[in-house]
Amino acid sequence: MSKVLIIGAGGVGGVVTHKCAQIPGVFSQICLASRTEAKCKAIAAQIKRRIQTASLDADRPENTIRLIRKFKPDLVINVALPYQDLAIMDACLATGVPYLDTANYEPPNKAKFEYKWQWAYRSRFRKAGLMALLGCGFDPGVTNIFCAYAQKHYFDEIHTVDIMDCNAGSHGKAFATNFNPEINIREITQRGKFWENSRWKETDPLSVHQAFDFPEVGPKEMYLMYHEELESLVKNIKGLRRIRFWMTFGQQYLTHLRVLENVGMTSIKPVMYEGKEVVPLKFLKAVLPEPSSLGKNYTGKTNIGCMIEGIQNRRRRRIYIYNVCDHADCWKEVKAQAISYTTGVPAVIGAMMMLQGKWQAPGVFNVEEFDPDPFMAELSRLGLPWVVKVMRPGQLMVK
Ligand code: NDP
Repeated sequence: MSKVLIIGAGGVGGVVTHKCAQIPGVFSQICLASRTEAKCKAIAAQIKRRIQTASLDADRPENTIRLIRKFKPDLVINVALPYQDLAIMDACLATGVPYLDTANYEPPNKAKFEYKWQWAYRSRFRKAGLMALLGCGFDPGVTNIFCAYAQKHYFDEIHTVDIMDCNAGSHGKAFATNFNPEINIREITQRGKFWENSRWKETDPLSVHQAFDFPEVGPKEMYLMYHEELESLVKNIKGLRRIRFWMTFGQQYLTHLRVLENVGMTSIKPVMYEGKEVVPLKFLKAVLPEPSSLGKNYTGKTNIGCMIEGIQNRRRRRIYIYNVCDHADCWKEVKAQAISYTTGVPAVIGAMMMLQGKWQAPGVFNVEEFDPDPFMAELSRLGLPWVVKVMRPGQLMVK
């Protein structure tokens, strides 16, 4: 029986709150806090159990410290934005409360995400006897755990990993992002990057692509991108020779994105407008649909998984582990689309692992550093069933 403080009342925060509320045996009291308390109240009103709400600007640790001292949670789940990660970790250290998030820190004025800022908290969390779990969404999160599961049960040595994220859903809008537009567009417009033969290699943004026939979804064009789980998996999966990340995009999405880039709307450099400083990307976010508003009419499925090759008993083998999630089913269950759902459910499972002591150690960790088995068991039980396909030679190849 534990008290949990959820920070961030967006698409993911809504799913985390619904799912925690479904598991009263673990999450006995829930407080949802966010910058706009009305959004917390709107989510709380969808749920039969009592959810406490609070107004919180988590950019300043003292605000979060005050709320933690009042509510006294056993765990903080941070599903606000990556900009708040360090300030919330500071508040957790100051109050002696464990921490969990789904996306690594980004400085607001530089579109760069790296674990170095959060990994630098390792000794402070270790000394305080506290645990911080990083990147516990789907990707990063479940994709890392798929790799740890493959390592444990299918391989003596993993040589290559291709993480493939496909959203074949349709929300009916001309252009929208499935999670926070600002963070999403910063990520997609970066240069591509992958790890091969012990070094990072870069590519022009979205310049490398190929078609892949996703189970239950069909063939889609997927684009090579840099994604944050590559950084920790390169360290934690031994013997890795290459790891890449791919995401599918439709032509309509790419055309809109190209136009917005060409006219300067994706820039994070402030411009003066009528005597005020405006960041074009922040302004763009303000006019785009909120991710939490997309769910109602969303149809179609996501398929996110890992194609993994390596050696077992001196023989080469290739397996494909993936989950398929249906947007409309997510809406029925928790009033969300599948991207929020596939992020929020793993965050709740990570929280269960910590609160039940199944994953427990002082310090700052990525999810693949723990035993994947109890997490994988809950993943199927809580709405994200997964499939392991042992591939035949030539079947569903990633070039
Ligand atoms: P949304 O934009 O829908 O929600 C973000 C929420 O955080 C909003 O309610 C916002 O408040 C709140 N917030 C922003 N700044 C602050 C602040 N200073 N203090 C308190 N609350 C604040 O985003 P999503 O729900 O789609 O995404 C949430 C997180 O999940 C992001 O970090 C994203 O990167 C991550 N994510 C991870 C994935 C994974 O697989 N690992 C996949 C998808 C997302 P307000 O409403 O007032 O703006």
